Amino acid sequence: MNSLILELDNKNVWHPFTHQVAKRGVRNIVKGEGVHLIDEDGERYIDAISSWWVNLHGHCNPYIANKVSEQLIQLEHCIFSDFTHPQAVTFANRLLAILPENQKKIFYSDNGSTAVEVAIKMTVQYWSNQNLPKTIFIAFENAYHGDTFGSMSIGARNVFNNAFENLLFEVAHIPLPTRQNILEIKNVLAAWFSNHNIAGFIFEPIVQGAAGMLMYEAELLDELISLCNQFNVVTIADEVMTGFGRTGKLFASDYLKNKPDIICLSKGITGGFMPLGATTCNERIYNAYLSNDKTHTFFHGHSYTANATACAAANASLDLLLQKDCELQIEMISAMHTEFAEQIKHHKALKEVRKLGTIIAFEIKSSKVLNYLNEGLLGLSDYFLKHGIILRPLGNVFYIIPPYIITKTELNKIYLTIKNYLDELLN
Ligand SMILES: *Cc1c(COP(=O)(O)O)cnc(C)c1O
Repeated sequence: MNSLILELDNKNVWHPFTHQVAKRGVRNIVKGEGVHLIDEDGERYIDAISSWWVNLHGHCNPYIANKVSEQLIQLEHCIFSDFTHPQAVTFANRLLAILPENQKKIFYSDNGSTAVEVAIKMTVQYWSNQNLPKTIFIAFENAYHGDTFGSMSIGARNVFNNAFENLLFEVAHIPLPTRQNILEIKNVLAAWFSNHNIAGFIFEPIVQGAAGMLMYEAELLDELISLCNQFNVVTIADEVMTGFGRTGKLFASDYLKNKPDIICLSKGITGGFMPLGATTCNERIYNAYLSNDKTHTFFHGHSYTANATACAAANASLDLLLQKDCELQIEMISAMHTEFAEQIKHHKALKEVRKLGTIIAFEIKSSKVLNYLNEGLLGLSDYFLKHGIILRPLGNVFYIIPPYIITKTELNKIYLTIKNYLDELLN
């Protein structure tokens, strides 16, 4: 691989979350086909992480590609203030029909960070429209909610946002709930709720993605939501990663008895075809904006709000997601993950295996026993690329989040390569 594209890339392009050094190793992907990405040399890679968790039905899925092409010659985009279009309206109607029943309105944006940003602003102004200046948010330790200032603020403070720390607004972080600490957390929260101006509680429901696929019990989250409801604190589920089948149910909120007031969606929303974000809310939130007072308007919007092509992709992706075939695939992946987790969990290189729905994560022991782990799992991506698989580490954790069209054979290939990788870690 030494093409002009790579040369120009190195000369002109700045990649996300990528350490900028004089010579960077990137791969030039020239084609997507189902579960595979294909580079300029014709090497095929199984996209085991769905290109940062966005792809649901495979790359260049012909059904979605056709729907998008049709939309492109019908209406590519139009202003969404004072105007509307069938794709956005149809998707809103269909999405609200499958979300928890309390969700009544949808606000479109462009990505996960903006979906969260909208949720934060929607919550703060929900209070200010009622002349209640509540502005403090509660979030989980290790949380990741995006890269804009609002979403960084509510996320965990770490190396990713050190440089911006002084500019981030104050947020109270609480640990993930366990059977052991739940009472203590509830006591602390109740005290905060009665003494401070707490606006809302935001969480990644039952799986914290970027933190390393940390999982916690739905029942415990239910208890926290219930407490928030008691104190009128707005609850926000960031389902940017967990939405659209990832956890085995359509939405992680489907595991909850107490439904959140606001839900943030993006990533899989278009099947990985187009950038799109959505923030949905219940009647209670919306009603605070329903007013004759113009200052109660939610003054937020992006030029590409509800982009018609993106909404067409979302409708097409939803068509596929709601088919029986897709449901069966999700069940198959989930069952295979469970079986592999059982097989591998006692491997000496592993500290823990976590699994929920189509997500499986492997936490490596970071002890001296293991060879080249001192700088995190640096060699991991290269090892798997050499074996035709795209995987990336999150600290000491790596994970599979595959497109739902993956086959048993492809999954077995990934599992086998993981087992070999773990064995080599011990040598
Ligand atoms: C990825 C992610 C985001 C941010 O989404 P972007 O589209 O990358 O801005 C927000 N919240 C969660 C839970 C995510 O996984």
